[in-house]
Amino acid sequence: MIEDKNQQRTDLSTLGEFGLIDHLTKNFVINHKSTVKGIGDDAAVLDFKKKVVVTTDLLVEGVHFDLSYMPLKHLGYKSVIVNLSDVYAMNATATQITVSIAVSNRFPLEALEEIYAGIETAAKIYNIDVIGGDTTSSNKGLLISVTALGEVENEVYRSGAKPNDLLVVTGDLGAAYMGLQVLEREKEVFKVNPNIQPDLDQYTYLIERQLKPEARKDIVKLLNDLDVKPTSMIDISDGLSSEIMHICKQSKVGCDLYESKIPLDPQVISTCEEFNIDSTTVALNGGEDYELLMTISQDDYPKIKANPNLTIIGYMTEESAGMHLVTRAETKIPIKAQGWKNFNE
Ligand code: ADP
Ligand code: MG
Repeated sequence: MIEDKNQQRTDLSTLGEFGLIDHLTKNFVINHKSTVKGIGDDAAVLDFKKKVVVTTDLLVEGVHFDLSYMPLKHLGYKSVIVNLSDVYAMNATATQITVSIAVSNRFPLEALEEIYAGIETAAKIYNIDVIGGDTTSSNKGLLISVTALGEVENEVYRSGAKPNDLLVVTGDLGAAYMGLQVLEREKEVFKVNPNIQPDLDQYTYLIERQLKPEARKDIVKLLNDLDVKPTSMIDISDGLSSEIMHICKQSKVGCDLYESKIPLDPQVISTCEEFNIDSTTVALNGGEDYELLMTISQDDYPKIKANPNLTIIGYMTEESAGMHLVTRAETKIPIKAQGWKNFNE
C-alpha cells in the first residue's frame, strides 16, 4: 500500500549466490552453547544435553501473506514468530532456527535485506541463533520456510487433558483476524484511489497483531515460575475452536467453553461492531493470534487464579459429553472447526 517507488534496486544476480548468502547472514551472532557450528559449512553442528524439539513452517506469497500490505521486515519477523510459537507450545525453550528462502527475480537485494532485518530482530528479541538455511530462486513469488529447534525438560503434548481440567488461554483473541479485515478493506480503498492514505489510528492494536505478532516465550517462563505443568497445550494459529478440537480429539475428552469468558480487546469489540461481525465467531474462527491454549489441573487453580496473563475460559468434560460453547444466553451449542482452510480457498 505504502510502497516507496524511489527505493534503490540492486539486482540479485550482481552478488551471486554465495555473495548473497554472506551479505544476508553477516550480522547473525551465536549465543547458545548448544550451537557448535553455525552458518558456513555444509551443515550446522549442535550439541544438546537435553531433549530437543523441532518444528517447521512454510509461508507462501499469496497464500499466507500479501505483500501489498505486509512490509517485508514484518514478514521476516513473523516467519520466525510462527515457528517459535510452536516451540513454546511444547513448553520448550527456542534456541536455533534455519531459514530457507525462494525468490523470483522480481525481488531486488534490498527486499531480501528487509526480510533479513526482520529475522535478525526476532532472533535478537527471542534469543535464538540463526544456524543455516538455503537460498534459491523461484519462478514466481516468494516462499519462506523456517525450522526452529528448542530444548525441553517437561514437554507438554496436545494429548494430556483430563476431564475436569481447566481450559486456559493467554492474552486475547481475534485481534489479528480483525487486523486482516481492516487491511483488506484499506487495500480495496487504495485500489480505487491511490491518493487516499488510510487513517488507521483506531485499529493500531489489531494491525500490530496481524503484521507483528509475538510468540509467548514469557508464558513458558511464567508456568515454570508458578510451578505449573499444563496437562496439554497448543498454540492458537487457526482459531480457538479448531485448537480446542485438537486437544479434545487427541486427549479423548470433551469440553465446555464459556462464551462470556473469552478474552477480547476493546478494539476487537468495537471493530466487530463496525464490520457487523460477531466477536465470538472471530475469536473462535479467526486465526494467527499465536496465544497459547492449555489445560491445567484443578489442583493448580490456586497457583494461576490471580494471574492476569491466564484466563480460564471453560473446563474439560468426559469425551461422551462432547465439545460445547456455552453461550451468554446459557444455551449449549456444539463447537465446529472453521480454521483457516488454505486448501479450500
Ligand atoms: P549448500 O550448497 O551445501 O546447500 P549453501 O551454499 O546453500 O550450501 O549454504 C552455505 C551456508 O549458508 C550453509 O551454512 C547454509 O546453512 C547457509 N545458508 C544458506 N542460505 C541461507 C539463508 N537463506 N539463511 C541463512 N543461512 C543460509
Ligand atoms: Mg544450499
